[in-house]
Amino acid sequence: MNIVLLGPPGAGKGTQALRIAKTYDIPHISTGEIFRRAVADETEMGMRAKAYMNRGELVPDEVVIGIVKERLEGPDCAEGFLLDGFPRTVAQAEALEKELSKSGRELDSGLDIEVGRASLIKRLTGRRTCRACGKVYHLTFDPPQSATTCDACGGELWQRDDDTEETVSKRLDVYEEQTAPLIDFYNERDLLVEVDGERGVDDVFSAVKQLLTA
Ligand code: AMP
Repeated sequence: MNIVLLGPPGAGKGTQALRIAKTYDIPHISTGEIFRRAVADETEMGMRAKAYMNRGELVPDEVVIGIVKERLEGPDCAEGFLLDGFPRTVAQAEALEKELSKSGRELDSGLDIEVGRASLIKRLTGRRTCRACGKVYHLTFDPPQSATTCDACGGELWQRDDDTEETVSKRLDVYEEQTAPLIDFYNERDLLVEVDGERGVDDVFSAVKQLLTA
């Protein structure tokens, strides 16, 4: 199954992606994670991406497209993949379509998780992640016992640099301007699958499974 996950920042793409990848046994490719790892490793690409990410802007298309193209050539992607956070512009979606067609592949679904702006702001600004094990908490909806320490491993909890209120607002504007047009793009191709992401994680995942296997 070849899937792209659409939906604004904070819709729960990463959380659902982990479950989808496990259930359908396909690799989970998160461009945001690839960039965060490159920033942590202080690679040249990471240093370039960091400035855009911290401003809440998109990393230039040519950088992201190059990374995804290379990743999709991996043998583990031959039987399917789940792209999380890519494409984010029409140019990226067109590049993906072209790249897949070169190897006789095509997308099966563009899965859009829908959540309103007020909920997204609450979700993103309250998010905390463990530096050590990557577990994600929310200060209100899924609070750790201490705001600074991971319950699971004792690691330090941190707030992503781009989850501050000002940057979140910018990221949501960027989503509306540059990424939301992909809903029409995939609708026109009869690939769009929409799910209400305002519900709990388990309910959203049940709906996702039903829609993907329908
Ligand atoms: P995410 O973890 O998906 O919210 O991504 C975090 C940040 O990484 C975004 O706000 C962008 O700055 C950058 N990024 C991730 N994916 C893309 C993409 N497909 N195109 C451009 N920038 C991206």
